[in-house]
Amino acid sequence: MSAVRRSVLAVIGLVTLTACGGQSSGTPATTATRTTAPTTTTVSATTTTPPTTTTVAPPAKPAPVVVLDPGHNGANAANPGEINRQVPAGRGRVKACNTTGTATNAGYPEHAFTWDVAERVRDQLTAQGVRVVLTRPDDNGIGPCVDRRAAIANESGAAAVVSIHADGSTNPSAHGFHLAYSAPPLNEAQGEPSTRLATTMRDTLVAKGFATSTYIGSSGLSPRDDLGGLNLSERPAVLVECGNMRNATEAAAFSDQAGRQSYATAITAGILAYLG
Ligand code: ZN
Repeated sequence: MSAVRRSVLAVIGLVTLTACGGQSSGTPATTATRTTAPTTTTVSATTTTPPTTTTVAPPAKPAPVVVLDPGHNGANAANPGEINRQVPAGRGRVKACNTTGTATNAGYPEHAFTWDVAERVRDQLTAQGVRVVLTRPDDNGIGPCVDRRAAIANESGAAAVVSIHADGSTNPSAHGFHLAYSAPPLNEAQGEPSTRLATTMRDTLVAKGFATSTYIGSSGLSPRDDLGGLNLSERPAVLVECGNMRNATEAAAFSDQAGRQSYATAITAGILAYLG
């Protein structure tokens, strides 16, 4: 049986506030006649040179670096030999250099989606004073391989690394976004920082009206040990799977500029929330 504790409220006392202002009586009116001439201040000619001022600026805070990693690339499909090359994928495994990615049923490819969203996020972050590094310069190349993408992020000293993808579930009713992060973590950056990046991004996307995945992970979070880019990351890193390109509603959003802008705005907000 637990004892019932009764807290005692201590009444410290009431502070009586006296009204300030509004005292319209009691103060004698000032005599209207002013017999003394107003004092004039003469500015000496010798003071026309403004004094030298030393402005002590606060130490410049370096712009945070964010690496955006748009999944896949436009020339991957035409170069299977290069993208199927086996590369280190962390945890002692090897994996294909890169993959072609998926597409909507109408043929809008994932690599074009991820590149477009990454450009939009880059522009929004840059406008907020963030220095952005992209893992590929355009949407016409091959790769880079997953280990190279991770190396680009590691070499940049990024405060956050965000890979952008969209999924291709064959179940057309499957929909919603999820965030993959490395688990179990292989280094400190993959621990609390990456988990917090994932949860912050999840919370931000939900607040922006996006639904969490109905078919992967739990509450929009998917801990993974098989994604090379995440395994090899030495910076806080997350992979955003924006949704299912085979779902009609999400495919329509992915294929539409305004829809992509909405994803980009939400991802940007998630990154800024994480950076604080
Ligand atoms: Zn992908």
